[in-house]
Amino acid sequence: MTINVAKISKLDRASVLHPFTQLADFASGKLGDPIIVETGKGIRIQDATGKELIDGFAGLYCVNIGYGRTEVAEAISRQAYRLAYYHTYAAHTTDELAILSDRLVRMAPGKMSKIFYGMSGSDANETNVKLVWYYNNLRGKPKKKKIISRMRGYHGCSVVSGSLTGMSFYHDHMDLPVSGIIHTGAPHHYWGAEAGESELAFSARRATELDELIQREGADTVGAFIAEPVLGTGGITPPPEGYWSAIQEVLKKHDVLLIADEVITGFGRTGSMFGCHHYGIEPDLITIAKGLTSAYFPLSGSIVSEKVYQVMEEGAAKVGAFSHGYTYSGHPIGAAAANAVLDIVEKENLPGNARVVGDYFQKRLSATFAQLPIVGEVRGVGLMGAIEFVADRDRKTRFDAGLKVGARVSKAARDRGLIARAMPHGDILGFAPPLVTTKEEVDEIVSIAEAAVREVMDELSRETAI
Ligand code: PMP
Repeated sequence: MTINVAKISKLDRASVLHPFTQLADFASGKLGDPIIVETGKGIRIQDATGKELIDGFAGLYCVNIGYGRTEVAEAISRQAYRLAYYHTYAAHTTDELAILSDRLVRMAPGKMSKIFYGMSGSDANETNVKLVWYYNNLRGKPKKKKIISRMRGYHGCSVVSGSLTGMSFYHDHMDLPVSGIIHTGAPHHYWGAEAGESELAFSARRATELDELIQREGADTVGAFIAEPVLGTGGITPPPEGYWSAIQEVLKKHDVLLIADEVITGFGRTGSMFGCHHYGIEPDLITIAKGLTSAYFPLSGSIVSEKVYQVMEEGAAKVGAFSHGYTYSGHPIGAAAANAVLDIVEKENLPGNARVVGDYFQKRLSATFAQLPIVGEVRGVGLMGAIEFVADRDRKTRFDAGLKVGARVSKAARDRGLIARAMPHGDILGFAPPLVTTKEEVDEIVSIAEAAVREVMDELSRETAI
């Protein structure tokens, strides 16, 4: 099919409200024409003008199996022909959904019991917050409802999930956060540690701060702590040493549930099947989305532990039916897509690939970038990584935001055929390529990124010399 680029651009500009886009600049044409993405194969996408790009971000950290996997397209089509839809209210189900759910309970970390399905990471987090409230109502603890999240955590964009997100630009002008949500410090040693403070000492300090926060608020008012095993959109930042064990001790002490938001880390990205496996986390609720279907169909889930589920089942005698659900909860096409995707994740051992190729990727990133004069930190785990740019390495000072260093590097990479994302918090270039990426492809990604970083570094030295 040949796309009429001018016509589609015109229709798009006139009628699509694009997320995370400067609306006036887009409307006036200052941002250029929309990029019409037409096809994808492996780790590459092609736009309607024929330009090919390596997708070093797997869409939005989600196309883990890569583009163009016909096995999944066929599974989706088979299910659509057989039964395009039925709901899961009042104990209805489909074969694909029951098989998927059994599989997820067995794959998930900890003692898990049931999966509740949604369509996006945001709505799954919304569900998880409702489950915390429901659980504590059923336990006769109606005050135990506040949720603690972290600065720089990302949990979605809906009213509650957007409030959980710990970055102010997601709140500004949107009347968020709503009440009952509190943020605690980010687990980022590079920016957060005091001079000479070890990672272990820093982690212990973050845990003490959490302990004090819970005591200040009153443990009888705090229902849950939500966190990504690895901070994602807040800057792709693995936790410092000792962080998770120290945090979990505090949560246990105060009978506070732990929601592990595995929307990015689930299904192999860290090199383990779940981030919880990687860091020894024992969650009470888990949020999954993205990698569950590798984005071939919108599907998310809230995985509920035995501990939480038992209270729900016992509570049914008192409160009746569990009154929560969406038209599309457990959509059969989503379930068929997820089963086909998980077949690939397991057969091709994508967590194993993320570990082996990921180690190589992390080494290449460090060797190429860590010593450059504008780089403060190179970090990552498995197949997720970031380069953080700073104006002064010794004094750890950020660049003037007006210089837009992160965005410029990302643009320079894109002009050379690589998508690497300028992360929203600071001058950070982020990578999260599909989990099928090979070492040769890592070499391509790193060499394009290096050319882009060096180009901007040269520009900056010319600009500051003037
Ligand atoms: N949680 C995390 C950790 C995420 O990274 C995201 C999306 N980037 C979400 C939740 C929200 O998912 P969605 O965009 O599907 O609502």
